[in-house]
Amino acid sequence: MIPYGRQSIGEEDIESVVEVLKSDWLTTGPKIEEFEREFEEFTGAENAVAVANGTAALHTAMFLANIKQGDEVIVPPMTFAATSNSVLFQGGTPVFVDIDTDTLLIDHEQVVDSISEKTKAIVCVDYAGQPCAYDELGAVAEEHDVLLIADSCHALGAEYKGKKVGTLADITVFSFHPVKHITTGEGGMVVTDDDEFARRARRFRNHGIDKDVHKRKEENSWYYEMVDLGYNYRITDIQCALGITQLKKLPGWLKRRREIAERYDRGFSQSEHITPLKTRSVVSHAYHLYVVKIDEEAPLSRDEVFDQMRGRDIGVNVHYIPVHLHPYYRDNLNTRRGMCPDAERVYDQILTLPDYPAMEDTEVEYVISSLREILGE
Ligand SMILES: *Cc1c(COP(=O)(O)O)cnc(C)c1O
Repeated sequence: MIPYGRQSIGEEDIESVVEVLKSDWLTTGPKIEEFEREFEEFTGAENAVAVANGTAALHTAMFLANIKQGDEVIVPPMTFAATSNSVLFQGGTPVFVDIDTDTLLIDHEQVVDSISEKTKAIVCVDYAGQPCAYDELGAVAEEHDVLLIADSCHALGAEYKGKKVGTLADITVFSFHPVKHITTGEGGMVVTDDDEFARRARRFRNHGIDKDVHKRKEENSWYYEMVDLGYNYRITDIQCALGITQLKKLPGWLKRRREIAERYDRGFSQSEHITPLKTRSVVSHAYHLYVVKIDEEAPLSRDEVFDQMRGRDIGVNVHYIPVHLHPYYRDNLNTRRGMCPDAERVYDQILTLPDYPAMEDTEVEYVISSLREILGE
C-alpha cells in the first residue's frame, strides 16, 4: 500500500534518540531548549514553546487568548476537529465560517461578516500546506481587536509573500505527528513574537507553575507557585532529540514534496474531471497534503473513486469531514447541515493523494495513471 503520508526516520534520528536515553535527562532537559532555538531560527519567530502534541499547542493558544465561557472564536469547518475542540476546552464557542472552494481556506470576506461583540479570536488553518490570506485576516483581526491564531499544522516551511509561516499571526501552532512535515512521535509547538505569551505558554505546559519565583526565593529552593490552571503538556527530551535531527532534513523534504506536487499538477493538467486545488501566486506551498476534487459530472462519485484507488493499494484519504457535521457538534452545539454549504459540497468531491518525501516518481506516476484510468480518461 502506498500511504497518503509517512515519516522518514534515518540513522542520525535513531542515534540522537539513543544518546538521550543514555543521558541523565529523559523529560525536561537540554534538548527541549535546543529544539526550540532551532525552530525559532527556522521560522524566524521570536519564541517557540514545545509541547506534548499539536492539540495541546492549540489548547495553549486558546489559553493565551483568554478564551472563556461566552467568548466566540471563528474557525473554518474544513479542518481536523482538534482546531475547534480547543475552543471548547476553554469553554468558548466555535463559530464556523465557510471556506473558499478553490483553496479550501477560510473565506476572509465571510470572516468579517461573522465577527460579533463576543468574538475574541480568529483561527485560520493553512489547509494542505497553503498559507491563508494573512494580510486580509490580519487587517480584520486588528480592526476588531481580536487575536489571529494560525493552525499551521499542515504548513511548516510554507511562506506567504516571502514570510515564513510562524511569523504571520499572533500565535501559530504546529504538530509533529508522524504524517506531518517532521515528527517527534507526538509533539507540537506554539510560536509567537510576543514574549509574555511565550512566558505564559511555558507555565501552561507545566501545571501553571511559575518558575521565576524560584529565583526570587533562592533561599528556599523547594519553593514554587502555581499561578494558572495549567496542564501537563510537557514534551520529552527523547522527542526533542528526534525533532532536532528531523528539522535539519526539512528543507530537502519540502523540496521533494513540491516536486511530487508539480508532477501531479502536470499529470492532471489535461484531465476532464480531476481538479487539483488552486495555489495562489503569493504563497510557497508546503504540501502536507495533495488534494484533488472529483467533479460532479465525473462518471464515478468520490466514494467510488476512493474504493477503487484503495483496491489498487493506493492509500487515498479524505481531509476532512466538515467539523460541524460531527455528532458531538450537532448534539452539543446545535450545528447542522446547511451552515457551511461550500465546505459541505466540496467535502463530497475531495480526495487526498499520497505525497511524502520518500515517495518514488514511479509511484507518483502510478497514482496519476490509476486515477485517470478509473475515471475513464
Ligand atoms: C495534526 C493536526 C492537528 C493536531 O495535531 P496532533 O499533534 O495530532 O494533536 C490539529 N490541526 C490540524 C490542522 C492538524 O492537521
